Amino acid sequence: MSDTRQPFHPPSGFPWPDGKKFAASLTFDVDAEAGALAFDATFHRRMSLMTHQSYGPSVAVPKLLAMLEHHDIRATFFVPGYTADLYPDMVRAIVAGGHEVAHHGWMHEKTTSLTDAQEAEMLDRGLESLDRVGVRPVGYRAPWWEYNYRTTDMLLERGFAYDSSLLDGDVPYRFTSGDGVARDLVEIPVDWALDDWEQFAFYPEWTGSGLIESPRKALQMWSDEASVAATAGNCFVLTNHPFISGRPTRLSALSELVDHITSLDGVWFATLQQIAEHTANTLSDIRIHHRIPDPGPQPGQGGDGHPLGHLHDNL
Ligand SMILES: [Zn+2]
Repeated sequence: MSDTRQPFHPPSGFPWPDGKKFAASLTFDVDAEAGALAFDATFHRRMSLMTHQSYGPSVAVPKLLAMLEHHDIRATFFVPGYTADLYPDMVRAIVAGGHEVAHHGWMHEKTTSLTDAQEAEMLDRGLESLDRVGVRPVGYRAPWWEYNYRTTDMLLERGFAYDSSLLDGDVPYRFTSGDGVARDLVEIPVDWALDDWEQFAFYPEWTGSGLIESPRKALQMWSDEASVAATAGNCFVLTNHPFISGRPTRLSALSELVDHITSLDGVWFATLQQIAEHTANTLSDIRIHHRIPDPGPQPGQGGDGHPLGHLHDNL
């Protein structure tokens, strides 16, 4: 019988660097206008909505960079190509601050509705836009975290080292698409509970439920997540969007969260690139992500009422 007087900690054996017990990474998806325009291209006519999105690169990112500098930590910024084209000086400022810039599509595309050729074009246009500001990314995060089974090989062909869009881990792992593929990627998993969109995002006739949570509540929630990551030896990856979390009270709460994480024993504050390099150099096991077989027609689903009918057949 186990000793119930001791708190439960799940088994963990991830080999973090010497002296470190868990990893923490702040990531910022600079969706800006692209995040809204991918949803509906006619939104470019809605000036107020466009300013809601441009608040991110124009107002929030400089404040976020100052906050990160204050705490002397480096973060990872996922920048769609369209955002880089509109705000090249912002990308340069992120790089000048010592932070990582990584790939996040070109127009924050809905990847589940793209053909193979369209997804390849998205990746290449994103790379070209980042190249114009001197960035060669090693990391990718699918827009809306919608990574396709085919994406792995596309990323390997383009020299990427890691992805951060999948949701099947508490710690990073190495993976590939199937037998016979010599190279592999590192996955640094994410979690919707660690995304500011679910807490705060709202814009009429575009996104959100209308409920905007208190930053106090999000701070408590994310602090608890970090505390458990520390005791479990996990990888804490927070996803924020500058147009959302750069607002004053949320930025203040985010700074408090960094104080909390910094106080935890054995923290390794790192960029995703650093975590990916460590994982690739340390782990030997490589997972294979097989496609889930099509289950075919199911009882009670008449006609063409497939539950995933909105997804494209090309996946
Ligand atoms: Zn995004």
